[in-house]
Amino acid sequence: MLGLDLMNPATDKVLAEVENARDEIVDFAADLIRIPTINPPGDAYHDASHFIGDRLTKLDFDVDYPTASDHPDHSKEFPRVNVVGRRQGASARPLVHLNGHIDVVPTGSGWTVDPFAGLVEDGKLFGRGSCDMKAGIAAAVYAAEAVRRAGISLAGSVEVSGTVDEESGGFAGVRFLCEQGRIARDVTDYVIIPEPLNVDRICIGHRGVYWFKVTAHGRIAHGSMPFLGESAIDRMSEFLEAIKNELVPQIAQRVTATPVVPPEARHATLNVNSIAGGQAGQMPQSPCVADRCEAIFDRRFLQEEGFDKTKEEVKALLDRVASDGGRFELEDLMVVHPVQTPADSPLVGSLGAAIEAVLGKPAERIASPGTYDHKHVARVAGVEHCVAYGPGILELAHQVDEYCLVDDLVNATKVLALTIVDLIGTPDGS
Ligand SMILES: [Zn+2]
Repeated sequence: MLGLDLMNPATDKVLAEVENARDEIVDFAADLIRIPTINPPGDAYHDASHFIGDRLTKLDFDVDYPTASDHPDHSKEFPRVNVVGRRQGASARPLVHLNGHIDVVPTGSGWTVDPFAGLVEDGKLFGRGSCDMKAGIAAAVYAAEAVRRAGISLAGSVEVSGTVDEESGGFAGVRFLCEQGRIARDVTDYVIIPEPLNVDRICIGHRGVYWFKVTAHGRIAHGSMPFLGESAIDRMSEFLEAIKNELVPQIAQRVTATPVVPPEARHATLNVNSIAGGQAGQMPQSPCVADRCEAIFDRRFLQEEGFDKTKEEVKALLDRVASDGGRFELEDLMVVHPVQTPADSPLVGSLGAAIEAVLGKPAERIASPGTYDHKHVARVAGVEHCVAYGPGILELAHQVDEYCLVDDLVNATKVLALTIVDLIGTPDGS
């Protein structure tokens, strides 16, 4: 590593090249926002991937388009097209891979600007996906480009990828690249995901996720004679009461040592995501005692709790509520184990030094309240040196009138550019 030094002329040059490219970076991000890659269903992935790929080709990357054509959501109308650009230096490694998801969530209503116009006003770039995370993709592309324009030849390689479906789990996106060995422990040294977590914060991981479904069974009967049946809704209510009065207060006492933000998310949490019972929706009226009630739960667990204990607690509660003859089923819908970058990772060190050099203040280490593509990089590819760092304010993601500050975008590009140089180094070590 070079050891970041603002007096180093190479460092100065890189920062100057990012500054010179300010308009180009903003224009690229704005053009990307104009491609409405809404997920679901996964609109315009082909166009967005090729837009990024065309730019990367122009900037001297070797580009290809790994497509998850076996994925159930892939179709002719909604192809799951990813893009990967690679620029090799003196040798293949060290390799820094910068990954951004190209999909955005639906707009929702209440916008005061066109969500897909790529409007820039008062130093803000507006639009759905501006902060989450098309600004991040622009920062990744131009960080690598600023290094090249500064005339620095690197000892290893840089990759920039744009991937699909992060908002729906990333299975046809980053997970696919990991399964294909495109991101893998034996080829990839460092992965940076420029998600919007504030320009001075490094995100080192996330809590665990356990989504489960509980089905309560009852016995159907005429609604006028409920005593002849058994209400599955009443059964579910008993379970919900126990969740609310016992489990939730109990797990709220637990605090993780992982620096999750906001601070409330440092505790274990549980949310009832949905509930449906009886014949609601199937007929204009529901004239029966409900024989079935289903609810979906979102339990976020801490590194210190672990998955086994988390599930065991749910099962024990369910068994107790069922002890007077209730019939319940428990089904796992999704399990994501917590991930955390090693505290002494060179990636965290380099990024921290770059943030301090560019912003003049120390970086904060945080963990995300929710999960993102880090899980695939850590669990499937086995690359432990992975963080999220990028432009944009976390709380603006998925909101109406989403925006990214242009200054954040430019600063994050500078930070990433310095980090690339520091991690990969130059062939002569200068
Ligand atoms: Zn995102």
